[in-house]
Amino acid sequence: MRAAVPDRLSDMLTRLKLTGIRDQLDGLLDEAGRQELNLRETLVMLCEREIARKDERRIEMTLKLARFPFVRDLSGFDFAAQPSIDPKQVRELAGARWIANGENVLLLGPPGVGKTHLAVALGREAIIAGHSVQFVAATAVVAQLAKSYSEGRLEERLAQFAKPKLLIIDELGYLLFEPNAAHLFFQLVSRRYEKGAILLTSNRSIGEWGTVFGDPVVATAILDRLLHHGHVITIRGNSYRLKEKRRSGLCKSLLQPKQSRRKKHERCPNHRKPLARNGAMDGPLARGLLHTGNTRGQFLMSSRG
Ligand code: ADP
Ligand code: MG
Repeated sequence: MRAAVPDRLSDMLTRLKLTGIRDQLDGLLDEAGRQELNLRETLVMLCEREIARKDERRIEMTLKLARFPFVRDLSGFDFAAQPSIDPKQVRELAGARWIANGENVLLLGPPGVGKTHLAVALGREAIIAGHSVQFVAATAVVAQLAKSYSEGRLEERLAQFAKPKLLIIDELGYLLFEPNAAHLFFQLVSRRYEKGAILLTSNRSIGEWGTVFGDPVVATAILDRLLHHGHVITIRGNSYRLKEKRRSGLCKSLLQPKQSRRKKHERCPNHRKPLARNGAMDGPLARGLLHTGNTRGQFLMSSRG
């Protein structure tokens, strides 16, 4: 005996992988009736729901695969708190055209200013736009490349890092590279050059990358490729983390020993002193470079300068 119509329909929708329509069929048909849709309009509505559900699933799955360290989006970014960032530039990058073109983004600035937040938020936008994304800490990239190299499987690892349309490498510069690591990192950057986008965050200014990589020549070669089709966003200013602590009253106790020696009106106005001392973006060369922007020539000037 043939199966009843609802069962047959459900089986066929399963076979066609139209599970969104299958699971909501009664509700969708009721809705079509209420809106007095004709057959063609009903079909359009069913297809729209199926596509929306597939998109939702894809985004959910790709977000999991990206391995972001936390959930952040652009709507949660307080641009007013970070006036050195041009919101228009960030919104343009959210359009993800740079990813389709295999371009790069460097987010530079001291700790706590929102580099990782923006990296995750832009990664999320890339996923919504249909791209695959992998987020990885710079230390983990280097460790994985070094391990694969020592096991004779570097090629395999490089191919793996070349796969996602966007590779986000977070926190370059907290640890200096071992001698061989800079070469391995160079191979990774060359592999993706003009093919896959890289978003890199660093607490070190470009002028300091020679030190980070332990080899100015390799650092120049890496930067040359990153900056060729690169967008640099340099964030200046104060740590958002400390700002939040200050709001919650913790700031006073955190900074107490040094402040007690300062005049009252100098206390904790905007953290300039403590942040400048923690060093990342300090130094005359770094400061000069931070004001110069993002062209290839400017970096070459810095690396030779
Ligand atoms: P960084 O990577 O520059 O060290 P993070 O992106 O990790 O800093 O930011 C530290 C914390 O402060 C995160 O929880 C982040 O969401 C938050 N944060 C930083 N800047 C902003 C901002 N402008 N608006 C909202 N949250 C921010
Ligand atoms: Mg960070």
